[in-house]
Amino acid sequence: MLDSIPICDTHAHLSFRHFDSDRHDILRTIERGVLSFVVEVGIDLDNSRKCIELADSEDHVYATVGVHPHDSAKVATGKYLETMEAFVSSSRKVVAIGETGLDYYRDLSPRKVQKQVFIDQLNLASKMKLPAVVHIRDAYDDALEVLRDEAPGTKVVVHSFSGDMECAKKIINLGFYVGIGCPITYKRNDELREVVRSIPLDRILPETDSPFLPPQEMRGKRNDPVNVRYVFSMISDLKGISLEECSGILLENATSFFGIRRREA
Ligand SMILES: [Zn+2]
Repeated sequence: MLDSIPICDTHAHLSFRHFDSDRHDILRTIERGVLSFVVEVGIDLDNSRKCIELADSEDHVYATVGVHPHDSAKVATGKYLETMEAFVSSSRKVVAIGETGLDYYRDLSPRKVQKQVFIDQLNLASKMKLPAVVHIRDAYDDALEVLRDEAPGTKVVVHSFSGDMECAKKIINLGFYVGIGCPITYKRNDELREVVRSIPLDRILPETDSPFLPPQEMRGKRNDPVNVRYVFSMISDLKGISLEECSGILLENATSFFGIRRREA
């Protein structure tokens, strides 16, 4: 039944080596219309270039250009903003800046550097009039403070949301969006399901973060964009509405957030 419901994935990494053996098959699945579209998210300069190449060669794949907090130390001293700006101008398929943000869980770049590179990219998003895809892990207080100060007027999605209810409310009150992925299906994730029940459906963007974070019944395996159907299904259950209605609203959220023109079903 789900096969006929339009779905989309607003956050995937199909350019990663995890997909080297079957990327082509997945792209053909997207082309056949199983997914309305996929947003391929960049994590550093080289990868952002790959994302654009992928988007330029596939009708229903869009790209973002960004430097992940893990990689911020690699770029901080260089002219990376000029490079990002040139990337954005190089293709009409670039629909957002990111992923950018703060990650204090792994702390792979010094926090001060993460913060500066995050602020720089939010300013670039504002300058280029693009939305921002934001990654936050164990850093919600600092990240929300930065977003409050640096992102007024910019559309923001906090992707793969992993905070608590209070944090979700702050994000909604700032006018931002919450990205919900397959962790919504995890047995012990009642808190996230409660968050989804409470926040407005028109502020939710569906995603997978493939190859990471597979749904409950595939834990330990590689995730792929088609599994976003588990997210659509769980959200419609939690909201107590039909899958058709839920899908219509989530697709509309995603297309208007990224300014994507959707293929006709
Ligand atoms: Zn990601």
